[in-house]
Amino acid sequence: MTDNVEAFSDGQGLIAGLLSSGESVEIPDHWLSYYQSRAQRNRGGRKTESPSSLIKYVSCPLSWFADRHAPENQGGVFVPNTFGVLGTAVHRIIELFYKERPANRDDSTLYEIRDDVWDALTTGSIKGGIIDANTLKDFQYAIDHPFGNFTKQGGRAFIEKRVRECVDNLLAFDDRPHRTKVKAQEKWSRAEINGISFNGRVDLIVESPKGGNSVIDYKTGKSHLDEDEVPSFDHLEFFKSGMYSVTEPDVDYIEQWYLMEELNVRLRATDERKGFVNAVIDDVTSQMNRIENSGKLRINPASSKDCGQCAYCPIKDVCPAWNDEMSLMDIAEAMKDKEE
Ligand code: SF4
Repeated sequence: MTDNVEAFSDGQGLIAGLLSSGESVEIPDHWLSYYQSRAQRNRGGRKTESPSSLIKYVSCPLSWFADRHAPENQGGVFVPNTFGVLGTAVHRIIELFYKERPANRDDSTLYEIRDDVWDALTTGSIKGGIIDANTLKDFQYAIDHPFGNFTKQGGRAFIEKRVRECVDNLLAFDDRPHRTKVKAQEKWSRAEINGISFNGRVDLIVESPKGGNSVIDYKTGKSHLDEDEVPSFDHLEFFKSGMYSVTEPDVDYIEQWYLMEELNVRLRATDERKGFVNAVIDDVTSQMNRIENSGKLRINPASSKDCGQCAYCPIKDVCPAWNDEMSLMDIAEAMKDKEE
């Protein structure tokens, strides 16, 4: 296994490999000054990231920078899509379900909540706070700007079908929800490492029937585990949950509930694994800080334009990794053109 500090320090494993591959390029001056002033522009005066943005950095620092730190990215390129709003809807339904008193947590309550959330999304009636205004706005945007080959109607039908399937399968993961001891849900988890604050939301923390606490992450897409692959924290799919095992106290397990597939991937959060997570965060935050001084970051393309981190990257048509004649200024221009 490579999810331990020794292997990571020796450069072994997926994440160690990703963090040292790709070519360094200089970023435009205005990107650099914008990045250097990010703490001053934040209300709390902090440099902030999230577990998701850390994973994005590991995949490709250029894509991370364009999404989070390029001044031109004002909402035209990295935008809510069909899959994102599907995930948000399912998360909200499950959140409301576990907010119910234990005795009320049964399938009829679950389906009632599902229908209420869907009604709010599709009619725009959000009085009572069943969903918030941002969720509604993102949903409407995703419907009006369908992803890939979806039509507007097709995108909406897809989301509805997937929401139903995911919710239908929930009780296969927790067949006695009235007994589930919820410790926290949709909880903000915070940590500061090398001067960078990480803020992320944990879906659910429960007291595990096998002892200790489990951090649970709901997944509405398919798992990316290869057949026979042994899950570990040295996998981008599980690293985010791994982060919560170090930012939350007394976590003994992480679980990822792949609702569509009825697959529960459960990993013990051992001290060895937690040490690995801390080492990765230390390395990533150090790299992020170095960009401020060097003005350089890596471009880390996948093996082809249509796979891995590049497959759905919204800037791949102007990314220098795939277009010899393009530069980072072309990315800035392309994002500016799409500003709304
Ligand atoms: S297309 Fe690939 S290499 Fe280029 S920014 Fe996106 S993820 Fe990185």
